[in-house]
Amino acid sequence: MDFIPLLKVNLTDDDIAKVVNVLQSGMLVQGKEVLALEKKISNYLGVKHTIAASNGTATLHLALLALGIKPGDEVILPALSYIATANVLEIVGAKPVFVDIDLATFNIDVAQIEDKITSKTKAILPVHEFGLMSDMSAILKIAKHHQLHVIEDAACALGANFSNKNSGSFGDIGSFSLHPRKAITSGEGGFLTTNDDELAERLRILRNHGAGTINGKPEFVEAGLNYRLTDFQAALVNNQMDRLEDSLEVKSKLANHYFKKLNGHPKLLLPSTPENYRHSWQTYHVVFKDETINRDDVILALKDKGIGTNYGAQCLPFQYFYQKKYGLDCKKIFPNALQAYQAGLALPMYDTLKLEEVDYVVECLIEILDR
Ligand SMILES: *Cc1c(COP(=O)(O)O)cnc(C)c1O
Repeated sequence: MDFIPLLKVNLTDDDIAKVVNVLQSGMLVQGKEVLALEKKISNYLGVKHTIAASNGTATLHLALLALGIKPGDEVILPALSYIATANVLEIVGAKPVFVDIDLATFNIDVAQIEDKITSKTKAILPVHEFGLMSDMSAILKIAKHHQLHVIEDAACALGANFSNKNSGSFGDIGSFSLHPRKAITSGEGGFLTTNDDELAERLRILRNHGAGTINGKPEFVEAGLNYRLTDFQAALVNNQMDRLEDSLEVKSKLANHYFKKLNGHPKLLLPSTPENYRHSWQTYHVVFKDETINRDDVILALKDKGIGTNYGAQCLPFQYFYQKKYGLDCKKIFPNALQAYQAGLALPMYDTLKLEEVDYVVECLIEILDR
């Protein structure tokens, strides 16, 4: 059997031809391909505005700038995510206020949010980890009660929904990534979603050097950045959007197959999908319950068998910079996020993965765990 990687990008000849067309046109920067992509995504998600950007970290940064998050403000986020979610807060001078996760969903434990709200809290930044949406009903209720902004970090959750309402359409702003590790990809890339006309305008201005208009006349209306997506990157994503539903269907079948084969194993905690949620299965992530299992050894043993796996996400306050700056006792305050980080394993998941390959991955994993 060939090596089974953690993920495989699935591009067609036509995807590539679309990029070549743009390259041959000579019109490389943000233009009609980006506009077409933004329109397609807005239609798919059922949102008023989509604003493409250069990556899923730039989108988070833009969201914080557009909402006026400034030095001294506090923002509540889960202790488990990709490092970018916390880094952008540090970059604008805001303080990340971490909340532990629920191990059943790997998302922020909403029951612990209100305790962390202070007079400095400006926003809640839930992450839809591994492709499962956070409990947005609870989060929006808390946010409304305390007059906080909500930014959804939906980098992993394109196509995920709750009660048929899509990720990125709940908060003030949704932030997505188009990195190859995500549902669809432009290499580097990302986009923001919002239903608020003024926020959309502000995001577009901030994305493009602060270029706007005053009384209909072009002016640099504030200090912005260059966080634009190129037109050839947008062209690469165009067809992938059309195939997204099929891709999600395949991943859902693969996840069910993993579940069927691994269910009941005494050493494994499997991911769960609460009722009314659609998981986008960006990652199929299991956690070792048995503390004697060394996750990194399992990764190496699987690699020897021709299988690519990795840890799933970081316990943010446990990372070097955050330990140095805040010194939080993660074992005590964020036990679940720490366990998911140290004992979590992301298994191969991509839309060209075969059921027989899942069988092989499971067979090898169980053999290693039972050694
Ligand atoms: C991937 C990811 C990001 C960053 O996206 P990039 O496009 O790689 O910058 C941010 N947040 C989460 C939760 C992610 O998974």
